[in-house]
Order: sequence, then C-alpha cells, then structure tokens
Amino acid sequence: MKKLLQDRVIVQTGDITSIEVDAIVNAANSSLMGGGGVDGAIHRRGGKAILQECKEIRQHQYPEGLPTGKAVITNAGKLPSSHIIHTVGPVWHGGNQDEEQQLEAAYTNSLSVASETGLKTVAFPAISTGVYGFPKSKAATIAYQTIKQFLNSHSLPREVYLVFFSSDDEQVFLETLQTYNLE
Ligand code: ADP
Repeated sequence: MKKLLQDRVIVQTGDITSIEVDAIVNAANSSLMGGGGVDGAIHRRGGKAILQECKEIRQHQYPEGLPTGKAVITNAGKLPSSHIIHTVGPVWHGGNQDEEQQLEAAYTNSLSVASETGLKTVAFPAISTGVYGFPKSKAATIAYQTIKQFLNSHSLPREVYLVFFSSDDEQVFLETLQTYNLE
C-alpha cells in the first residue's frame, strides 16, 4: 500500500468488491448487462438490484448502450460500498484508435460523476487492462495523470483508491510512476 498526492491517492492490492467506499468503479462493457472480470465479480456479489438499475439506464438514457469513455452511477446492491460508477474503457487496438483519450475520458467522467454526487471516497480497478488488453504501463500513466489533474481542481472526491488485483500489477503501476517521474 502506498499513498500519493498528499494522501489523496491510495494504491493497494485487493478485490475491489470487498472495499467499503462511497463508490467503486466498474470496468463495464457498453451493454451494462454484466460480463467477465471485475464486471462479473461486481454483479455476482452485488446481486440483482444493480442489474435492475442498469436496465433502467439502458431503457431511458442509453438505449444503444453506454458509449466508451462515459460513466453512469447506480446503487451497489449487497456490496459494502454505497454506489457503483459504471464506465466503459476502450478495447486496445494498437493505440491508433483514440484509445488513450478514451481511457482518460473514462477516468475523468467517473470522477465527475463522483464529484457531482458529492462522494468523498472512490475506488478504481485498472480499467481496460484485463480482457480489453490495454498495456498496463501505459494505462498506469494515463490513470495517474488524469486523476492528479482532476484532484488538483476539485475537492471531491477527497480520496481515490487504486485497487490492483495482484501485487505484480500494483508493482507495475508504482514502477511506471517512478520511471516517468510522475509522483
Ligand atoms: P476490461 O475489460 O476493462 O479490461 P477486466 O475486468 O477484464 O476489464 O480487467 C480490468 C482489471 O481489473 C484487470 O487488471 C483485472 O485483473 C482487474 N480485476 C478483475 N477482477 C477484479 C476484482 N475483483 N477486483 C479488482 N480488480 C479486478
């Protein structure tokens, strides 16, 4: 575990579905109907109430699905957190299809939803670095710089947790910050 940015960013390894914060972010797909990875874990442990609210969002707000880079908020069902912010990260196609800007948008829009909802604590998984194949080191740079920029101009959320699923992933993240002198 490591704290950065005057303790407003907390880097740790763990299962994001076990974390007790105002909102955990879901690396969803545009259907909002669940999937594999962290998305599957959230819906499995959170129960039907989350999917129900996702269906309503699809019906009323995003009939074609949630576009890449956008974010919406729902209840968190049976999870220990209070809300879920669902965002869609980009699928990595080699880097020439706006993937970096889309990943940045996924972080910024998730943070904006948290801020507008008045949330103090938010936890992110490493969006797009699983099935969607975004290179972990590149994703680390984008995640950290985007969060840093947002926190510099907003008092909410007060704290952002970056939750890695393995200590290897946490190491890659921390080493990337060191390599590029981003801390
Ligand atoms: P994407 O489709 O956006 O790549 P994935 O869920 O496949 O989403 O992976 C995103 C990241 O979340 C990966 O680094 C994966 O190891 C991690 N992950 C998977 N399950 C969990 C979990 N329960 N808690 C935290 N991170 C998780």
